Amino acid sequence: MPSDRPHNDRPPTTTDAGIPVASDEHSLTVGPDGPLLLQDHYLLEQMANFNRERIPERQPHAKGGGAFGFFEVTQDVSAYTRAAVFQPGTRTDTLVRFSTVAGERGSPDTWRDPRGFAVKFYTTEGNFDLVGNNTPVFFIRDPLKFQHFIRSQKRRADNNLRDHDMQWDFWTLSPESAHQVTWLMGDRGIPRSWRHMNGYGSHTYMWINAAGERFWVKYHFKTDQGVEFLTQAEGDQMASADGDYHQRDLYEHIAAGQHPSWTLHVQIMPFEDARTYRFNPFDLTKVWPHADYPLHEVGRMTLDRNVTDYHTEIEQAAFEPNNLVPGTGLSPDKMLLARGFSYADAHRARLGVNYRQIPVNAPHVDVHSYSKDGAMRVRNATDPVYAPNSKGGPQARPDQTDDGGLWYADGEMVRSAYTLHPEDDDWGQAGTLVREVLDDDARTRLVDNIVGHLLDGVSEPVLVRAFEYWHNVDKGLGDRIEAGVRAKQ
Ligand code: NDP
Repeated sequence: MPSDRPHNDRPPTTTDAGIPVASDEHSLTVGPDGPLLLQDHYLLEQMANFNRERIPERQPHAKGGGAFGFFEVTQDVSAYTRAAVFQPGTRTDTLVRFSTVAGERGSPDTWRDPRGFAVKFYTTEGNFDLVGNNTPVFFIRDPLKFQHFIRSQKRRADNNLRDHDMQWDFWTLSPESAHQVTWLMGDRGIPRSWRHMNGYGSHTYMWINAAGERFWVKYHFKTDQGVEFLTQAEGDQMASADGDYHQRDLYEHIAAGQHPSWTLHVQIMPFEDARTYRFNPFDLTKVWPHADYPLHEVGRMTLDRNVTDYHTEIEQAAFEPNNLVPGTGLSPDKMLLARGFSYADAHRARLGVNYRQIPVNAPHVDVHSYSKDGAMRVRNATDPVYAPNSKGGPQARPDQTDDGGLWYADGEMVRSAYTLHPEDDDWGQAGTLVREVLDDDARTRLVDNIVGHLLDGVSEPVLVRAFEYWHNVDKGLGDRIEAGVRAKQ
């Protein structure tokens, strides 16, 4: 047998069964130039493993990266929630995954796109996930449109190319997208790095305090590094120079001891305000203006540990809005309620029914679930395997749960838009962003970004609708966009 290298202190290479292997470099052959032997089990194992390395990528949010860290509560919000993770002085381990939305796993980090900002808190009451984005709003408000929206952002059937014409076709036929598209085409549509962007829970959630009082909340992670962006030209240049720029940036800063952090704030709405608030507070295309509901600081999240195996700790990480601990809950936001099904379903499809037993997804508390069997099950089930039972098995404790937050609902079954509140429309908050938040330079970059995007393959009937769309957001902005496109055609 040829010995590959001089022996040293390194551990022996083994097969996946832990058996030492004879060589790292030479297959077993009949004579030095002879045929390979089928009994070279290690060669076969390595080839077979390699062929199965890739699992289906996420659809969407396929390209991403992340790190581990911790969340520390700095302020007292116990009047609003009894969740252990938010009680004064509590420190909780976290995992964060950042991502783009539309691109595939190998796509550049600096394409214009919203960014995913998914946080898993390993709390003493089980896992709590906040599956947010770097934007406080979204393109649509009804989950029936989600699949179609994502398809319009991805690739055509015929040439397998992304296509601005179908993107604008969908957006202009979905005017509720205007607020998010304005945000996307502005500076924050290409963050300088993941460290330089905020994260928002986006949806409205519920908090429940120890007395059982309910509040509606919105989560805001504000970056302590400051919000910074790349211009379109800088993003394009970086897409070709270093497609993994954001992933590299995060990894290198953490490795160098420069740990990024975010301060978590919440907006808190008294439960009864929701009925009469000027905007429908459960509409994902709207924010709650800060003047109506100011930010309350809760704590700080710091990322201080890089992953050691991207596949097991990031690619197999599974976040889901259903992971709600006592003191937290859902809301009547239709998009949020649908995500409750679709995320868990996506994980079952991608990772298998026992995805919560993968170490990165497993809670840091004991699990006493009646789930049993299934592919890749590694945690032993114990008898009794049914409930109710008189054999000492786990028993539900209503006093220890808020059942994901409950509210009253009644009415005919309908297919309709949300109830309109006094100031609800599709254009108003987008117009506020353009007129009252952006300065002149930011407005000019917004116009330039939209004009450039529209000139890249958008066909005439869709173009006309796009001009009307921007006129509805803001007359002056629409005029500049129309003039800008027509001048360059
Ligand atoms: P405020 O003046 O109180 O807040 C405006 C907020 O806009 C800022 O706090 C900042 O959010 C965000 N912002 C600043 N620059 C940009 C940019 N280039 N692109 C996107 N967002 C930016 O006003 P209101 O609360 O009344 O909101 C006005 C508009 O601001 C909204 O219609 C919405 O478009 C946008 N906005 C509002 C948020 C909210 O939750 N109220 C959150 C984010 C945006 P931040 O402090 O989170 O960085």
